Amino acid sequence: MPNFQTVRGMRDLLADEAGTLNFVISKARETAELYGYREVITPVVEPYELLSAKAGEEIRSRMFVFKDLGNRTVALRPEFTASIARLATGALKNEPKPLRMLAVGSVYRYDEPQRGRYREFYQSNYEIMGASNPEADAEIILLTDSLMRSVGLHNYAFKIGHVGIIRGILGQENVDEKTQSAVLQLMDKKEHNKALELIESEPCRVALKGLLDIKTDSVHETIEATKRQVENYGDAASAVQNLQEILTLVAERGCPVATVEPTFARGLEYYTGMIFEVYIPEVEVALGGGGRYDRLVEVFGGEQTPAIGVAHGLDRIVMAIQTQKTPPNKCEKMKVAVVPVKTIMKGRALGIAQLLRTAGISAELEVMGRKINKALEDADRRQMDFAVIVGEREIEQGCVVVRDLAKREQCEVPISDLPKILSSRS
Ligand code: AMP
Repeated sequence: MPNFQTVRGMRDLLADEAGTLNFVISKARETAELYGYREVITPVVEPYELLSAKAGEEIRSRMFVFKDLGNRTVALRPEFTASIARLATGALKNEPKPLRMLAVGSVYRYDEPQRGRYREFYQSNYEIMGASNPEADAEIILLTDSLMRSVGLHNYAFKIGHVGIIRGILGQENVDEKTQSAVLQLMDKKEHNKALELIESEPCRVALKGLLDIKTDSVHETIEATKRQVENYGDAASAVQNLQEILTLVAERGCPVATVEPTFARGLEYYTGMIFEVYIPEVEVALGGGGRYDRLVEVFGGEQTPAIGVAHGLDRIVMAIQTQKTPPNKCEKMKVAVVPVKTIMKGRALGIAQLLRTAGISAELEVMGRKINKALEDADRRQMDFAVIVGEREIEQGCVVVRDLAKREQCEVPISDLPKILSSRS
């Protein structure tokens, strides 16, 4: 037999890690509810054209693309925003605005696998459509803050920028959109010199160089220095103004903004306004990121719809929880082993297990036919709380034996009282 392994970059998540991932997903859903985002479920496989329309070269080149049996060119989703924008132009076109949506699930990118970078990973993705005000930008940052807090992370901080600053400068000097996007992609990869080489206009290069040279840890000083650099560029100046307003809104709510970078760019091409990422000091890669994209819905044939969204990398949040050693308060349920003393009692034992499950108590039936001592040893090893021993003599009297596995004590209990007694001990 061949030694089957997972495909490179894809992982099996064993119970502990899957448990932590599900804990993070439950917190992502709770956060969505608190902020009024309703969950939608979209397909993993989408038309290649939809996913590639505005994702940017970086992500386009890393998509899992293939022909289905009907000869359609399709791809595994590398992100959720395109699917959500499709909903906004179709099924939800006439819904009153703002539209607040959550999508959670796996996404696929042919990235180079390394710690925190996989080819199949999980995201929680929040989008708010129809709102152009800075309160909406602030909301997306604040809900990310809430999620980080609710999973127990500490010392996380935001890095914030605004693509309108670079686009504003380049646009005023008539640099075409394609070159603008290429410059932003290079900025994202921190290839600043290559980015500057793409720009023919001298004043533009000088302005961009000036922004790259701003070196201060103070958010306030960065904003003031950026304002001075862009004072001759109307759109870029408005972008800084907008960024400052958003920063004030989030800072007043106690949200930790560590850095503002006027030349910060992100891989996705569709951003038009504020962009951000969230980090913890112990992990180099971002735990989540997002931004404003006011033209995407239009690109997909919808009405002009301002929009903003964020995607959280759930695998990286799991990694951050493990790194910061913040045990997730998973609130483990009590576990009970149900063990028949003899094989002939198996039907009765099954009935007892069903009785417990109906009462909401987790019950595992002994299905290996082991002797009582072996079954109890196994229950102990798996850190179960109680064993319910189903013996012939006790059953005749309408009873079972309940054994507290930690205390190594046991007593007889009437079956009718069993769920109540076990629940009271949890
Ligand atoms: P993006 O959709 O590129 O804005 O990414 C949003 C978040 O997804 C990032 O901040 C990461 O936390 C996470 N992420 C992106 N790429 C990967 C990957 N290859 N593996 C694991 N997480 C990723």
